[in-house]
Amino acid sequence: MLAAMDDSLRKFAERARGFMPPNEGLALFRAGCAGAPKGPLLEIGSYCGKSAVYLGAAARECGARLFTIDHHRGSEEHQPGEEFHDPEIYDASSGRIDTLPFLLETLAAASLEDVVVPLVGASTEMARSWSVPLGLLFIDGGHSSPAAQDDLAGWAPHVALGGLLVIHDVFENPEDGGRPPYEIYRRALDGGSFVERSAEGSLRVLERVVDRV
Ligand code: SAH
Ligand code: MG
Repeated sequence: MLAAMDDSLRKFAERARGFMPPNEGLALFRAGCAGAPKGPLLEIGSYCGKSAVYLGAAARECGARLFTIDHHRGSEEHQPGEEFHDPEIYDASSGRIDTLPFLLETLAAASLEDVVVPLVGASTEMARSWSVPLGLLFIDGGHSSPAAQDDLAGWAPHVALGGLLVIHDVFENPEDGGRPPYEIYRRALDGGSFVERSAEGSLRVLERVVDRV
């Protein structure tokens, strides 16, 4: 039987601050359960923990751990004056965005602290020190071209054979949104090691079918 997301966690995730529509969140949950037998789940782009609740629920339900990475200083579009700025996550005393307290609060309120491990720092730095094959990699961090390309180059090699590579904000049509997530999705497919398994909204789920060298 397919694993189902805990109902109270699903409602909690829907109310949480962030950028993950319910249909895409449930697709993320399903991908998390599908990848869990192959290794831990890892997310790039925790923000305030909305997608981490979907993946954390999968980790709990399907016996894995979720590592979630963020430097917590926000992406370009979250900075003051930009389209997705939220004044509540701006720390006036330091003059910077700080989403770490919100992430910790979300994980505590969802009772997911035992299965979700926050990692605080720049994603590409951490990729260099990582060695555990991943059951699922979720790329939802910086959307500039260098940030997205570096996340794919640094982290995709860590996805286990049969493990999943999930990319958010993939818009085939340039009028619907920015290009870098779409470009890394294409690059992953064109590289020949990944095939597409499913799509939901702007979420794309790919599976590694050629082993890492
Ligand atoms: N998954 C979240 C949304 C992520 S927004 C949700 O469900 O709501 C993107 C996040 O990526 C931001 O919090 C930003 O701080 C982070 N980010 C951007 N570039 C990064 C980098 N190079 N290293 C670590 N985190 C980064
Ligand atoms: Mg996103």
